Order: sequence, then structure tokens, then C-alpha cells
Amino acid sequence: ADTLRLILGDQLNPKHSWFNRKDPRVVYVIAELHEEATYVRHHVQKLCAFFAAMADFAAHLREAGHRVEYLTLDESCKHPSLEKLLKALCKQYGVDRFEYQRPDEYRLLQVLRELKMGSSIEVAETDSEHFLLPWDEIPEQFSRGKHRTMEAFYRHMRRRFQILMDGDEPSGGRWNFDAENRNKLPPEQFAHIPEPLVFANPVADYLERIERHKIATIGTPSDTSIWPHERRQALRLLRFFCQHCLAFFGQFQDSMSGKAPHAWSLYHSRISFALNSKMISPGEVIDAALATYEAPDSGVELAQIEGFVRQILGWREYVRGIYWANMPGYARANSLGARRALPDYFWSAETRMHCMAAAIRQSLDYAYAHHIQRLMVTGNFCLLAGIEPKQVDAWYLGIYIDAIEWVELPNTRGMSQFADGGIIATKPYAASGQYIDRMSDYCGDCHYQVKHRTEDDACPFNSLYWDFMIRHRENFEKNPRIGMIYRNWDKMEEDRQADLLKRAQWCKRNLKKL
Ligand code: FAD
Ligand code: SF4
Repeated sequence: ADTLRLILGDQLNPKHSWFNRKDPRVVYVIAELHEEATYVRHHVQKLCAFFAAMADFAAHLREAGHRVEYLTLDESCKHPSLEKLLKALCKQYGVDRFEYQRPDEYRLLQVLRELKMGSSIEVAETDSEHFLLPWDEIPEQFSRGKHRTMEAFYRHMRRRFQILMDGDEPSGGRWNFDAENRNKLPPEQFAHIPEPLVFANPVADYLERIERHKIATIGTPSDTSIWPHERRQALRLLRFFCQHCLAFFGQFQDSMSGKAPHAWSLYHSRISFALNSKMISPGEVIDAALATYEAPDSGVELAQIEGFVRQILGWREYVRGIYWANMPGYARANSLGARRALPDYFWSAETRMHCMAAAIRQSLDYAYAHHIQRLMVTGNFCLLAGIEPKQVDAWYLGIYIDAIEWVELPNTRGMSQFADGGIIATKPYAASGQYIDRMSDYCGDCHYQVKHRTEDDACPFNSLYWDFMIRHRENFEKNPRIGMIYRNWDKMEEDRQADLLKRAQWCKRNLKKL
């Protein structure tokens, strides 16, 4: 062979131009790596899904006539580092050229760019051909340390790719339909929630291997995986979403329920794993959704398709830009000086806060929670309680099926913890129990009273919210989007203020027991 090409676990893109041509002189290597399985404590279902998807991809490439070397943990563990493994393979195949697709993660990009393969081996980097915004355009859109609104970026992307546009104007004359969307899920809707399409891919072999190699994991183990392991399944999931969920996507994207059937998935697409492993591309996801919207009698309204396109064309591409413009410093940001430890119930779901228990339980069981559970329940709690961002990040990066640093970090440290000091959000996503009560049916079944603020049974989010705002008054008071809140506080009787802060103090001291 002449060339060795590395395919990482999140580069399972069968449409990549590498595969346009069969060439016996090219050997592809896909490897289960100890380092990748342990840089954070991953959900066991996430490790199984990635390994199984990698093995499926290797089989698919072989069937298509490519030469593939697949290394399980049993084989790769003989090499102390990725560099040594790659060198050994280059020697084994006698190649003089090594190629890789540019990783999406800063850490891995550093590792690959700093490889010392020796003078006899030429090294080349190529694009992963996945994202919509070309790599070279990231610096035009994002600057280190600078705030960039998602909305402005999103409009740029709508124009740049002519999606939902009438010439230079947005379809329907408006860019944003959030006002129509984001409703609470009424009980009348329960009967219409589609039963989620899940797979039952066998993963017992991977589970056994992960255990045998003593890789520490979190979450509920399972012999089968519900996630798509190959492109065909990913496309089925996408079709299922377009047919059964898209028409209600925007309307109920922020709702949460402890009572609705299939409350863990509702109208969400659950395609983040398929997208982030690159089995499918953002372009084809948008095209499929647009085709559904445009079909006669689709029942999909503009507000719903816009809400969905905003996530893929807007948010997903946006957080990638923020990540690359701000790494590596972003991973250390802690603008609010949060220091507290993450309570143990993040690993057990054993808390009396019903909203938290529901979000954590389902994360442990499915390696999945939808956006508002991540942002406004667990994320909001960590923000209000002042949990150290490093610990918050490690939890999110480990537990979710779709968690890869380029997308996890800006969402967690930036959007949800405001640790970047406002590069992403113009104000922190901090909310009291009232917000959770408005968007869910959790509070009625909770040990705590959402309407109480200072009593012994008061919802912890309520006093912690005020404590957070007062703790950071200097940071936020001048922010025009928050100023009002301080005026409300100042109007409150002093005794009331003192009681609120006292209850918050109690909550913080007893954080582990909430
Ligand atoms: P849907 O609700 O159906 O949305 C469709 C798609 O839009 C998603 O698959 C995703 O690709 C994209 N999308 C939506 N919102 C975002 C966003 N804020 N950032 C990037 N893409 C978005 N997403 C990840 O893919 N990986 C992560 O590690 C991750 N960590 C998060 C951590 C926190 C604290 C928060 C608040 C959000 C995080 N998100 C992450 C974003 C979002 O919650 C998930 O993309 C979404 O819940 C995945 O489920 P879904 O496929 O059913 O999404
Ligand atoms: Fe969550 Fe508070 Fe509602 Fe309980 S009362 S479910 S803790 S918001």
C-alpha cells in the first residue's frame, strides 16, 4: 500500500470524497481507542453505540471494495499512544503517506498536527466535508472573545445557502417564529405523541469488551442500542421525524412532561448522534425537512420548519464557530467564579426535585435528554447553585449520546453556565421554578412547592434564583435585559429579601440532600 488513512469514530461519513474511488493502495484504519474511551467517563450506551457504528462503517467500506483495518480495544491497547499505533501501521503496510480528516475536537487536532511520523512519511490533512459553513469562513464570522449573536449568524446562513428565502427576504416575511412556538404540552396532545422509532442493535460484544478493559462508564448498560448505527438507520430516523414529528416540532420543542407517553422524546428528532458521527450531513437533514414542508398537504407550517432549520443551520453551525474561534481558552473559562461540587444525584437521579430526577433518570437510561431539560433543568440548576464549570462539562460530555466537545462545550460552558462571560448569551439562562412550572407538568408531583419561596418545602430553584442574581449583581445590573429584575428585588421588603437569601443559604449548604 501507499497510503494509510485514519477514520475517527465521529467521521463515519460514507459520502466523503475519499470513498469515491476504490484504490487497493489505500488502507483505511478505524480503531477503538482506550484514550478516546476514557478522556472523560462516558455513558456506557454511548461507547457501545460509537464502537458498533465504527464497526458497521468498516464493514460497509469493505463491502464497497475498500481495504480496511479495524482494530478493537484488544488490538489497539498494545500501543501506548495513537502516534505509536499509527507508526506501527505505517510500517506494517509499508506506506509513505498518512492522511486524516481534520478532527472537530481541538485536542485531537493538536495530536494529529503534532504527529512525528518521521521524514519518510508525508502527512496530509483534509476536510471532513460535513459542515455547511466552510472551515475557512469561520474566522470571517467569529472572533476570539467577541460576542456574536446567533440570530445574526443564522440570518447570514439563511442568505448564504438560500434556505427559506424569497430573494433577499425571509420566507413569510419574518426570520423568527419563536412567538408562535414554545408552548406547554396540553394533555389533549398526549394521545398524538408518536411512539418513537428506536432500534435494537445488538451490542453485547462491545459491552463485554468495555467491561473487560475496565473502562469506567456511567449510565444504565444495555445489550441492545436504540441509536442508529449506520446510515440506512439514520435516514429512517430522519424520515420518521419528518413524517411524524416535524409538524409539531417548534410548537412543543421547549415543553417537558413527566406524564405524557414517550415524554423522553416527544417531537424531538433524536438525530444528533447520527449527525455528530457524520452518518448523515446537516445539508441532507435540512433538505429532507424542506421537502416534507413543501409537499402538498404536508401539514407542516412555516413556523415549524423555521424552528427546525434554525437548530441545524443556525445553532449547530454557530456553536462550532464559537468553539474554534475561542479554543483552547474556552475550556478554562469560569467568568462567574463557580466553585461548588456537582452533587452525587447527577449520577443516581436520587433527588426529591422532580424535574431534576426526571431529566437525570432519563439521561442515565437513554443517554439522551432534550434541549430544555439540558438547559433549563440540569443546566439552570448548576448555574444557580454555582457548580464548577469543569465538573458540569465533564458530566455533559460523558452522559449524552451526542456529546462531542465542539458542540458540548459552547452549549454547556457558554450557553448554559455563562462561564464565557457572554460570548454566546447576552444574559444568563437563569430561571426560577416558575419557568419549569410553565413549561412542564413536573411541579404538581414534586416534593417541593413551586409557589413557595422561603418555606421549608419551597422549590429550591426559587431562592437559588434570587441568590444567584444578587450574588452577581455587579455583573448583570447594567444589562438592559436584566435590570428590571433588580428593581423588583429592591421593591421587596427587607425581611422577605433576608428570608429568600436564608433559604438559598440552606439550599446551598444542603445541596447534596435536595
Ligand atoms: P432536536 O431538538 O430534534 O434538534 C434537532 C437538531 O438540531 C439536533 O440534533 C442538533 O443537531 C441541532 N441542535 C439543536 N440545538 C442545538 C444546539 N444548541 N447546539 C448544537 N446543535 C443543536 N448537542 C449536541 O449535539 N451535543 C452535545 O454534547 C450537546 N450538549 C448540550 C449541552 C447543554 C447544556 C445544552 C443546553 C445543549 C446541548 N446540546 C448538545 C444541544 C441540544 O440540546 C442537542 O443537540 C439536542 O437536544 C439533541 O437532540 P435531538 O437530536 O432530538 O434535537
Ligand atoms: Fe422542579 Fe421546583 Fe417544580 Fe419541584 S417544584 S419540579 S424542584 S421546579
